[in-house]
Amino acid sequence: MRPINWCPPIELSSAEEKVVKRIKRAKLFTFLRHHRHQLFDDTFQEELAQLFKDSSVGQAPIYPAQLALATILQAYTDVSDDEVIEVLLMDRRWQLVLDCLDCEQAPFGKGTFVRFRAMLIAKDFDRRLIELTVEMAQQKGGFSARHLRAALDSSPLWGAARVEDTYNLLGHALRKALDIIAHDQGRDLKEVATEAGAPWVADSSLKAALDLDWDDPAAKTQALSTILQALNQMEGLLQQSPQATPQAVQAATENMAVARQIQQQDVEVEPDGSPKLRKGTAKDRRITIEDAQMRHGRKSRKQRFDGYKRHVLRDLDGGLVRAVGLTPANLPEATVTDDIIADLKDQSVTLRELHIDRAYLASHLVKHRAEDLTIFCKAWPVRNGDRFTKQAFTLDWSAQRIHCPNGVRLPFEPGKVVRFPAETCADCPLQQQCTTSKKGRSVSIHPDEQLFAELRQRQVTPAGRAQLRQRVQVEHSLAQVSQWQGDKARYHSQRKNLFDLRRIAVVHNLHVIARMPDPPPGEIAA
Ligand code: SF4
Repeated sequence: MRPINWCPPIELSSAEEKVVKRIKRAKLFTFLRHHRHQLFDDTFQEELAQLFKDSSVGQAPIYPAQLALATILQAYTDVSDDEVIEVLLMDRRWQLVLDCLDCEQAPFGKGTFVRFRAMLIAKDFDRRLIELTVEMAQQKGGFSARHLRAALDSSPLWGAARVEDTYNLLGHALRKALDIIAHDQGRDLKEVATEAGAPWVADSSLKAALDLDWDDPAAKTQALSTILQALNQMEGLLQQSPQATPQAVQAATENMAVARQIQQQDVEVEPDGSPKLRKGTAKDRRITIEDAQMRHGRKSRKQRFDGYKRHVLRDLDGGLVRAVGLTPANLPEATVTDDIIADLKDQSVTLRELHIDRAYLASHLVKHRAEDLTIFCKAWPVRNGDRFTKQAFTLDWSAQRIHCPNGVRLPFEPGKVVRFPAETCADCPLQQQCTTSKKGRSVSIHPDEQLFAELRQRQVTPAGRAQLRQRVQVEHSLAQVSQWQGDKARYHSQRKNLFDLRRIAVVHNLHVIARMPDPPPGEIAA
């Protein structure tokens, strides 16, 4: 059976009017009550119906559109899944929006709500929710629907999982594996751990259970040996665990693999065969057991954080968030742009201006930009002590020649280094101001030097600097996103947190739309 469309009344009932009058601060409830039929119009509800046609989610009388609205409200009010069901019964603002005023029973249960979210994620339909707000805003007009001027920036999102040191990471992975087996066999964890020869695994604090002097390097080596020995034993036991179901063995094996991952990244072996912790941090080091994608990252050289970077692309004309991305904290900002392009793909929009900071200059979006895309960004500073910088040299792009301050011309190629002849520089009257090298002056030409030259040129004029300042608008959007989402992730896993960011973008956009003036009667923006 296909899910059916939700058709709540458009006009307010007298009871609803009373609720609306009492809402003083959380105005998104009022906005959604007035505009839910526009946001979830028949066309969109048909899309939802298609999406859930083979699922038990959204069967009558549970409407997918109602679940989608609750998903947005959950992000707006920052409540847990359990609390969603609670507020549906106790908060008249939720009831107002979901058309269940004074209901005795919630329109759906927690299980349905959680399954709906999983389906949205699995089918990548959370992206469609952002598009929906863009379409709604375009109905109001006031900005170009086809040409986009946008600014992109990111802020840290701390991960939700606990970051642990190597000993605890290994102990945590082993405990999870044994816990799965114990649960599968209906036994106590302590009993299973003792049987596996590692009773300390069952303890909530591995360091306390091992009862060692953790300031003593020899004791640390001993602890590492004990833990790794237990890992070997448990892997052996798992392979011959006749009482456990294949599913439990599979899940426990996955946790053992995580323990091995921790071992490989953090532990090395001394010549005498004893294990020791590796010095320094391994590349792409796993830092938690519960969230495989969380990573160490840096806000600045001195400030570190653990988790993700959330990226937001703001429309500089409409004020909407048009695309978002989430990357592990250790990845460069530039890696997010493929996700941003994917978000924009179905919005039928051409990016005409991109305002970024220098961290995004290495991105695919910049390197392989279309001819009609203009990049706005502060150029990298060019320094050369008190001698001529690269800016003292003129690049003639039509002739592909570089002119030095003394008028010497040489051909250049982007991505290569130009070397001025040593004998020419030695005889040059400007040599003291230019170079101390006996081999003559060299100038490296970046593969995207033309863009860099443009950026440098732009920032020397007041008009160019004013254009650069437009990027600050995306910082305002990031601040609002942070206000609703907080600085700590809600979920374990990159994809779930991306989902959360997308629905926060929806909340942001609905606020922007609520502030937009209505188009004159009878006029609908193209
Ligand atoms: S030192 Fe060489 S590169 Fe520099 S100005 Fe003189 S000739 Fe040109």
